[in-house]
Amino acid sequence: MVAWAGLGRAEAVDGETAEEQRVEAEIAAIEEQPRLDHDPAGMIVRARRLADRAERIDRPDLRHRTRMIEADMLSRQGDLPAAGRILHDVHAWAVAHRHPHLLTLSHWHLSGLFAQLGDATTAVEHAVRAMEILPTMTPAASTRLRMRCTLALADTYGDTGDYAAARERYAEAERMAVATAEINVRFLILNNLAYTEFQAGENAAASEAADRLLALVGRHDLVLDDSTRDTVGKIWLSAGRHAEAIALLQPSEKEYSNQYEEANSVASCLVTLAEAYRMAGELDQAETALRRCRRLCAERGLAAVEVEAQRVGAELLAAAGRFGEAFTAHKAFHAAAMRLHSAQRDARTRVLQVMYETEEALRAGERARQLAMRDPLTGLYNRRFVDAELPLLLHRAAETGTALSVAVLDLDYFKRINDTCSHEAGDRVLRQIADLLTARAQTLSGSFGARLGGEEFLFVMPGVDGPGAVAEMSGLCQTIRRHDWRPVTGHLPVTTSIGVSSSADGHGSAADLLREADMLLYRSKADGRDRITSADDRATASGPQAIR
Ligand code: GH3
Ligand code: MG
Ligand code: MG
Repeated sequence: MVAWAGLGRAEAVDGETAEEQRVEAEIAAIEEQPRLDHDPAGMIVRARRLADRAERIDRPDLRHRTRMIEADMLSRQGDLPAAGRILHDVHAWAVAHRHPHLLTLSHWHLSGLFAQLGDATTAVEHAVRAMEILPTMTPAASTRLRMRCTLALADTYGDTGDYAAARERYAEAERMAVATAEINVRFLILNNLAYTEFQAGENAAASEAADRLLALVGRHDLVLDDSTRDTVGKIWLSAGRHAEAIALLQPSEKEYSNQYEEANSVASCLVTLAEAYRMAGELDQAETALRRCRRLCAERGLAAVEVEAQRVGAELLAAAGRFGEAFTAHKAFHAAAMRLHSAQRDARTRVLQVMYETEEALRAGERARQLAMRDPLTGLYNRRFVDAELPLLLHRAAETGTALSVAVLDLDYFKRINDTCSHEAGDRVLRQIADLLTARAQTLSGSFGARLGGEEFLFVMPGVDGPGAVAEMSGLCQTIRRHDWRPVTGHLPVTTSIGVSSSADGHGSAADLLREADMLLYRSKADGRDRITSADDRATASGPQAIR
């Protein structure tokens, strides 16, 4: 008898363990929170711990969700190559496993990543894909996730200059946010809408959105973050509301943490403040704000804001009537802007390269994994594959309430072939049996053959019930018997004994299913070989011993 000890995982598949539920709940809670609420460094540590726990309970889907959280935090710290590599890996896994939750989230994150890299077209594509997959999610996508995806699509449409499409999506996201009383999401929507209208040059619409944003902040006692202050300040400046912009953009004295995003927003506010002072004619104050900004840019390596500060610096000199210096400063700004542009292009290339390398590595890994799943003599799947795959197939069958059948096949008197002909002839028989199994699998969707060891094979039939499996295997039994073996074994016949077991609705463990098939196979042997036995009919003779 064969021992099926390798299938102990069956319990974990039938019902989630308490640890699985805990890990999943913790991940879901992090995913649902607004990403800007997390402290990136702390969250990276937490995500890695969760990844270890997911690994220990053998849940790659949960592990990939933790990795995506880590990638998101890395991108907030400005490490786009590292974030891109992880996102790409996770996305590839989600595609290979058709995992809707991970697919939606990875498209959403990739959309954000490409937006950050300045590739608006690719960002839109990912946002659109995320929206397409949303309705296929089971359990259904949370409202928060739907709002996020809609918002991402609005933002990316805005980045490509399709303002009409952007407005439509902002309105849709806002309706959802109002209906669910999601204040933080509404805040984000109004902020991004105001920014997009400002980009579109629609000053009235931008002002209107900014006013609604501030009203919301006032009503709900929210804190205006630096990025939002910068957006509203810019809008007010272009509306000529200099004094209000100056009041709004005054730097706070609080220590900001060592976060790339936060420092970037503070520096950007300072540039806008300098510009506001200049427009109000307060050149000394403008100079002070600008100096402070450039110090921060130098400390944190904020290249884009630094270039912007150079532009405002040149304008300040011109406003002071120092035209010669202004001209030199403007030339320096222009050169820096060109350098920034090519640095951004290099950064984009580097991120894509890192992502592409991962794809190569992934393909190599996948090949190695495929080889490890195959039996070298016959090329059929091996026992390791069966141990991994069968519980998953049962799980799927249980979810859909469909049947699954397996057949264990053992060649009859195989030792005699080895002894009478040669071991080499024995090998040829095994390879030809494998070919017959593969040919049969091609006629039955989802089915496959495997070599369990020696002269024992398995045939797995998802979606096939007991009587269907018996009919299939009777055919196979006959095919093997009638095959022309003379070139290999001379006068010796080649036949098989088969045991068929089924699960009507995917319930029961893989180990039990195989144990039963194995037991029934030995009944076939005892009853005279070259036949099938199934649980339904313990004496299903395949035919005629008369042939032998
Ligand atoms: P039964 O009908 O009861 O199954 O008889 P049998 O001779 O098929 O069974 P037994 O278990 O006595 O012998 C199986 C033989 O299969 C013994 C072993 O040498 C041979 N065998 C196992 N693996 C290979 C292989 O890879 N190549 C070859 N040629 N023979 C193998
Ligand atoms: Mg055997
Ligand atoms: Mg045998």
